[in-house]
Amino acid sequence: MPQSLSQPRVSVSEVEGARFQVYTERQFDQIEALQRLSADARFAMRVVAKVLPFRVNRYVIDELIDWDRVPDDPVFQLSFPQPGMLREADFARMADAMRSGADRKAIQAIAADIRAGLNPHPAGQQQLNVPLLDGQPLPGMQHKYRETVLFFPSQGQTCHSYCSFCFRWAQFVGDREMRFASNEADSLHAYLAQHPEVSDLLVTGGDPMVMKTRHLATYLEPLTDARFERLQTIRIGTKSLTFWPQRYVTDADADELLRLLERLVAAGKHVALMAHYNHGRELDTPIAREAIRRVRDTGAVIRTQAPLLRRINDDADAWADMWRTQARLGMVPYYMFVERDTGARHYFEVPLARAWQIYRDAIQQVSGVARTARGPSMSATPGKVEVQGVAEVQGEKVFVLRFIQGRNPDWVQRPFFARYDESATWLDQLRPAFGEQRFFFEDEFDAMCRTASRGAD
Ligand SMILES: *Cc1c(COP(=O)(O)O)cnc(C)c1O
Repeated sequence: MPQSLSQPRVSVSEVEGARFQVYTERQFDQIEALQRLSADARFAMRVVAKVLPFRVNRYVIDELIDWDRVPDDPVFQLSFPQPGMLREADFARMADAMRSGADRKAIQAIAADIRAGLNPHPAGQQQLNVPLLDGQPLPGMQHKYRETVLFFPSQGQTCHSYCSFCFRWAQFVGDREMRFASNEADSLHAYLAQHPEVSDLLVTGGDPMVMKTRHLATYLEPLTDARFERLQTIRIGTKSLTFWPQRYVTDADADELLRLLERLVAAGKHVALMAHYNHGRELDTPIAREAIRRVRDTGAVIRTQAPLLRRINDDADAWADMWRTQARLGMVPYYMFVERDTGARHYFEVPLARAWQIYRDAIQQVSGVARTARGPSMSATPGKVEVQGVAEVQGEKVFVLRFIQGRNPDWVQRPFFARYDESATWLDQLRPAFGEQRFFFEDEFDAMCRTASRGAD
């Protein structure tokens, strides 16, 4: 039963699972709950876990998954590898190698080969968004939209559990080259000081909340200094409110973390946890509620976002329920994303036309305070593109689109049109409507890409 906020606060001794215990691909056999699955099903999971990252903790297993509903349970789908997540040929190749007892090196080579075919770096992340400080690239940062800098602290490049659909999955497997990470609090601060146009810092990962509070403080506390007066908003992208709410309640430095958030708020910053929630289930445990209450007590705001995923949340009622509960708990629904063009996308993707219908059916069910969620939105290379709807203009059925964010801010909020396509799942599959050859932004975007590739030489 979901708790209501008016019920008495839970005491620390009542909350479950205070000890963090995690399982990876190597500890599959130690996960007791999996014993109820067939040997074939378990083997299939191991095959997929050789290629895609897998990490799950005890709280997710014990409190969030309904094992009577496995394999259809949404949290099981989002945290455990499923056979369909690899294409058939890739799956067969890895399964054969494992059955024939191939050695570690051979398995790793096959895994690397399969991964390379899964578009590990969507949206030009490695070439197009790297900021420069005194002419030197800052690999642990991205600056794509004028107002907002993304920062990837090196100690925050893992998560309490992994999502099977993660668009940054490539960071968690294989060689370290694929990661962007930064040790450099100093370069972050120097960059922000040099860029007064930046109003928002978005600390992300991985999950920055895996960091000890004192590490997080090294990055964030100096931002209260007068020289960062123009920095208004400190956002932290996190799934910890779902995967490890103990971070805010029972962890040894939980209180210290809350005090840090309070100090940032007191210094006049807007502090926002950009919390990743895929399903209402994630909001229902007493400790999740307590974590939310404690974060809100600091003056920080919790904004919620998630991709729309087949098998997990491709259902308008599930979104409406989730948004209603979030609004009731004082959280602010923020984005509904389209599953990105990477990793196991074929397993999760929902056509844009259907995504829009789900969004609309969900939005229609909730009051204005929960209609703050925008979407469905594609985080594509030129910008965040929202499907605003399907319309008919002079006999032609079209998608109405807009940039929510653009590499050029001038692209934002201009309606533009694509030919309706029932099966399209991503921007690159859309064609301009009304017989046009190109979308309005494409010439300028191509020029930006040429400049960036010259810079990378
Ligand atoms: C989404 C996003 C942001 C933040 O955009 P808002 O619309 O301000 O939330 C910043 N940088 C990148 C690369 C993003 O994808």
